[in-house]
Amino acid sequence: MRLGVHASIAGGVSRAVSRAVRLGCNCVQLFCHSPRTWDVGPVEEREVEVFRAERKNAGLWPVVVHTSYLINLSSPDNDLYRRSVELFSMELETAGVLGADYLVVHPGSFLHGTIDSGIERVVDAIKAARRRQGGRRGRSAAVEILIENTAGGGSQTGGSLEDIGRIIKGAAGLKVGLCFDTCHGFASGYSMDNTCEADLLVRRMDKEIGLERLRLIHLNDSKGTLGSRLDRHAHIGMGRIGTEGLRAFINHPKIKDIPLILETPKKSERDDPENLERVREMRRNG
Ligand SMILES: [Zn+2]
Ligand SMILES: [Zn+2]
Repeated sequence: MRLGVHASIAGGVSRAVSRAVRLGCNCVQLFCHSPRTWDVGPVEEREVEVFRAERKNAGLWPVVVHTSYLINLSSPDNDLYRRSVELFSMELETAGVLGADYLVVHPGSFLHGTIDSGIERVVDAIKAARRRQGGRRGRSAAVEILIENTAGGGSQTGGSLEDIGRIIKGAAGLKVGLCFDTCHGFASGYSMDNTCEADLLVRRMDKEIGLERLRLIHLNDSKGTLGSRLDRHAHIGMGRIGTEGLRAFINHPKIKDIPLILETPKKSERDDPENLERVREMRRNG
């Protein structure tokens, strides 16, 4: 089982690697800079070297970079859209420099636009970022872009597997896959309460997107109820999905080898180890 957490980069990006290793993880997710600012530069060369060396030493796979929260690739506002595409392209570049395997991005919100225009803009943004990466030999060409499903609140694009499928099909040939977040999926109305429901969900994923495009699972329990459209993550087994549902989902024979990354709340030092242990137990009892 590939299991990791979203790790903090306080003190430098390479610190995410040591934090993950200390927790017994064999994969990791991180931001490549503070996720709440537009004002970012490249990661220092020395820091890149340490990151790459430590990651190799630890045998971490996959390494996942999560894009900044400010990016809105569905935005109908031209100025915000342009800045979003710019930052997204830069993060794709940085992910390549770090040797990351995946770059996860939320499709954003279409606001006063339409869902169709939102989807079209996300596809165009991916095309633009790929054009800027310097051909097939650029380092970021190796990074697969993963579109994450959203809880579907407000005017969010990507609250349904159909939306994500349209984005991925629109960007065919550009190395784009799916990151499925269980909290967002449940909140947007996809039940996974038992093995039967989990199987239905996996089948829908296969029909709308194709299971061969599923690269990563964000494993989070949900504070909101089924279909609540509330994006609030809960500790593993302590939310509305619960142990039985999450266990049924992660042990489904067709997806049991997909890497799992936890983005569960971190209020105390014990939260990550406890959540990780609960997932390991679910796997043992699956
Ligand atoms: Zn997520
Ligand atoms: Zn979330």
